[in-house]
Amino acid sequence: MTVMNVSRLIPTTAVAGAVVLGLTACSASDAADHKNGDKLNVVASFYPMQFLAEQIGGNHVSVTTLTKPGVEPHDLELTPRQIGGLGDADYILYLKGIQPAVDDAIKLSESTHSVDAAKLTTLEDHGTETGGDEHGHEHEHEGEGAGADPHIWLDPVKYAEVAKGVGASLEKTDPGHAADYRKNTDALVKRLDTLNTAYETGLRNTATKTFVTTHSAFGYLAERYGLVQEGIAGIDPEAEPSPARIQEIHTIAEKSKATTVFFETLASDKTAKTVAADTGLRTDVLDPLEGITDKSKGDNYFEVMQSNLAALQKALGAK
Ligand SMILES: [Zn+2]
Repeated sequence: MTVMNVSRLIPTTAVAGAVVLGLTACSASDAADHKNGDKLNVVASFYPMQFLAEQIGGNHVSVTTLTKPGVEPHDLELTPRQIGGLGDADYILYLKGIQPAVDDAIKLSESTHSVDAAKLTTLEDHGTETGGDEHGHEHEHEGEGAGADPHIWLDPVKYAEVAKGVGASLEKTDPGHAADYRKNTDALVKRLDTLNTAYETGLRNTATKTFVTTHSAFGYLAERYGLVQEGIAGIDPEAEPSPARIQEIHTIAEKSKATTVFFETLASDKTAKTVAADTGLRTDVLDPLEGITDKSKGDNYFEVMQSNLAALQKALGAK
């Protein structure tokens, strides 16, 4: 690994001192970080990227995730050690536009091994569908791509597009194991197709198409399956929703026969409970899958997506 790192560092034309420092840091952490020998050293930004890297990389990769379980990804601050680790990575998988700290660190690292998942599918702006800017989402950032909804992994079809792109780029990075990466990608895409079919079938006949959520993460999912996501004002999960929006949600819920206010596991359920109490709706969990913890309703992407489907079917009155 050390030899490979030298050959990668030289073309960056970084100051010689930086090269030496990089080497020192690498050797010092070698025992701890690089114990997997010949495996591809992969850094994933947060859970949806980690899952793709693990599923497609299989036993040819050793995946480190920058976002620890239970941490809201957009709040992430990187440690100097994590930032240094980016320079050692053989392959970095991230989603630009959701974690400014990661975007900045990757830019600074000048890594030529980073893959932006947002470039492997098409992003859309769901701002208007969730009621305009004031009901926007916490992951909206200024600058490049502002307004684009990053929650692509909650749509199995878009996630499959990203999976194919990740598979292709892993083949390029590590051609020796290309056949395995292709096989793993095909298997994952097949499972995502099956999941898509389960959602299509499960949500086809429902009493209502509208669901209310504190975290407007389900724009792509709603669009894919003909549903309407009503996000509650207060982009910060801890923020109080405005009385006007609660009134609006009340009206929408009555009109659309919505039954449930969804909240997520990584944030407080206070907003959901307040709104549910004010509108006479139930509360339930719809997991945006931004991290897996002990509280998650499932141990991996597929299990949580299945519980999300069950929760949606119940809330929408699936027949
Ligand atoms: Zn989110």
